[in-house]
Amino acid sequence: MPNHESSRNDLIAEIAELRLRLEEAEETLEAIRNGEVDALVVSGPQDDQVYTLNGSDRAYRILFETMNEGAAILGSDGTVFYCNGKLTAMLRAPMETVLGGSIFPFVTEKCAPAVADLLEKALQSPQKMEITLKSRDGTLVPCQISSSPFLVEDAANICAIFTDLTERKQVEANLIRSNKDLAQFAYVASHDLQEPLRNVINCLQILEKKYKYKLEPSADQYIHHAVEGSKRMKALIQDLLAYSRIDTHGKEHAHVDSEEVLSRTVENLASAISETRADITHDPLPRMAADTTQLLQVFQNLIGNAIKFRSDKPLRIHVSATANNREWIFSIRDNGIGIDPQYSEKIFMIFQRLNKRSEYDGTGMGLAIVKKIVERHGGRVWVESTIGEGSTFYFTIRNIRES
Ligand code: ADP
Repeated sequence: MPNHESSRNDLIAEIAELRLRLEEAEETLEAIRNGEVDALVVSGPQDDQVYTLNGSDRAYRILFETMNEGAAILGSDGTVFYCNGKLTAMLRAPMETVLGGSIFPFVTEKCAPAVADLLEKALQSPQKMEITLKSRDGTLVPCQISSSPFLVEDAANICAIFTDLTERKQVEANLIRSNKDLAQFAYVASHDLQEPLRNVINCLQILEKKYKYKLEPSADQYIHHAVEGSKRMKALIQDLLAYSRIDTHGKEHAHVDSEEVLSRTVENLASAISETRADITHDPLPRMAADTTQLLQVFQNLIGNAIKFRSDKPLRIHVSATANNREWIFSIRDNGIGIDPQYSEKIFMIFQRLNKRSEYDGTGMGLAIVKKIVERHGGRVWVESTIGEGSTFYFTIRNIRES
């Protein structure tokens, strides 16, 4: 009996001891998770052993060092408290000359005020901007700086990530240059092709006039096809030239009354309007900043198409404009033949047409010209349509209010 009693007491004592060790272990785990412990001493049967920790903050440190972006902790005055190897590589300077110094010797003079402003604002909220860094050997490094408040204990600092944009800028520059080259090529080709083509057309017309019915019957046919083909080529070349002139001959944006532009469009299309008895209505239209001639081209192409692609119903065209806080959204609605939605993007590409040439004339350049003009005005163009019911073309123009 006494034996039995003592073993029960032993068990209770053992349980109490185990509970205590469990609590201690839990406390230690919590401390490890919080990063309060760097190393542990564990008493073993032979000896005490020291274990260093591969804790979660070590992973963060490795992430900071190996990431492919420059990273730094900055004071609001630009002092570099901490930075990674990638940033020193971007600055082409050894770590010891960067750490503890200021970021400003590595910022171009032009960007310095903006960076100072960013650092001040970054104490409150995340900020992003593009700047140019000046490395120690004078190389300019375009980069994006993305910063956010970095508040640890009592210190208010800034965490900044520097993304090197050198490669992207080079690609952009190449793209701009090749676009320019292409535009120049289209302009020169279409401009210079006009002259020889004019000669071809003249000669063919003389041939037609002088020798009609005097040669074999098939010769008349060939001459006729050649005249028609060269006229079409002339139309294509002229439209290509108009397309390539949008950028080169575009004017500065001036204040434009779009209602007036619509009246001029209606005047220009007067004969087609009266022939088709088109009923053209409109809501009040805004005044805004745009290139008048180009806006006229947009209206003329869209209303001209609404007339051309009419159905059997009495033709009704309605023009309206609504504003959101950034732009005017114009719409030109018709009740014509409509467009299959699967082609609603294709029709804006150069020389793309959906209908037979024998039914509708045109080169397929009108909507490409509209798109290029609208994009030059910082806007977008799209169509919503139902076959057999009609189409509504929308385009936006940035809304810069008149002062
Ligand atoms: P084009 O009028 O010279 O054929 P566009 O570039 O102006 O060329 O138009 C491309 C194509 O889009 C047209 O050939 C036609 O098939 C279609 N389209 C344009 N506007 C309309 C419209 N209002 N209604 C129906 N189809 C249209």
